[in-house]
Amino acid sequence: MVIIVETGADEQTIQRLIDRVGALGYTPHPIRGVEKTVIAVIGEKTQEKIDILETMPGVERIVPILQKYKLVGREVKSETTAIRMTSGMEIGGEEVQMVAGPCAVESYEQFLNIARYVKQAGGHMLRGGIFKPRTSPHDFQGLGEEGIPIAQQVKADVGLPFVTEVVDVRDIEHLHDVADIYQVGARNMQNFALLTELGKVDRPVMLKRGMSATVDDLLQAAEYVVVEGNSDVILCERGIRTFETMTRNTLDISAVVALKRMSHLPVFVDPSHGTGRDWMVPALCKAAVAAGADGLMVETHWHPQEAMVDGAQSLTPVDFATLMSELPAFCSAAGRTL
Ligand code: PEP
Ligand code: MN
Repeated sequence: MVIIVETGADEQTIQRLIDRVGALGYTPHPIRGVEKTVIAVIGEKTQEKIDILETMPGVERIVPILQKYKLVGREVKSETTAIRMTSGMEIGGEEVQMVAGPCAVESYEQFLNIARYVKQAGGHMLRGGIFKPRTSPHDFQGLGEEGIPIAQQVKADVGLPFVTEVVDVRDIEHLHDVADIYQVGARNMQNFALLTELGKVDRPVMLKRGMSATVDDLLQAAEYVVVEGNSDVILCERGIRTFETMTRNTLDISAVVALKRMSHLPVFVDPSHGTGRDWMVPALCKAAVAAGADGLMVETHWHPQEAMVDGAQSLTPVDFATLMSELPAFCSAAGRTL
């Protein structure tokens, strides 16, 4: 259930409510929106306890939440969660954010080169896997710990924040000094131990949709992070498995519309993994913006044909720059900026 706090209730009244919820044996999760503060109450409800809470000063009303996801639903917060990065950029605000970079950090020279042109073309954030979750154990698994100082140096060289995947609970600490956002990949979307640990860190989490996960599964996975206290979660649609063989996955644009309606969390779209084909990426970036995406994640490489991972879906520097020059018109048509 959620307690909708009366508009204008002061901090002391809200704190008393939170304390009372705790004293009744529940876990309170205050969610402060621009217009309304609500307190999500997690735990077994009884009519007796609801009656006690209903009479407390500052309570407007108490409403049950029927979905399995309680904290990430629009019901508890009508406006989109805005995540402010230390660099000042805001995720979930008016500006559509472009995250770009190689699938994997391969070397200092490779990552620096790509990072420079991402920045030059107007990208907002870098991506690049240091630890790669590969389908085959015989494929390149990323540089591992050796990649951390490389990414740190490139970040310092170009001055862009960095999102990178964490595949194992043990790597959360290793990546803490380099990751501005921790990415949870599709293959780990339901790694609940990892999600729970990421709920305790002071960094946003980019949670990618599992390739056979429903929209509802994704929201419940996000709930695992938020319930631990980290409310800065970004959802990412990256394609699902279907019978279609033309593309690597089927990018589910309708999921963006659904997620935006059902949740207050920002939603990103990754058309690179969503299609596996570089020539489809620009059109689907535009479609994602039209559907309401708050950001895009695109793989780029200076020499896609030489990429160690995912070259076929990586944009060249020229194609990336062209995309960046075309996107503002689409963002503007959707009431956004780039
Ligand atoms: C990635 O973004 O590098 C990646 C592996 O994506 P996904 O988890 O969506 O396959
Ligand atoms: Mn990739």
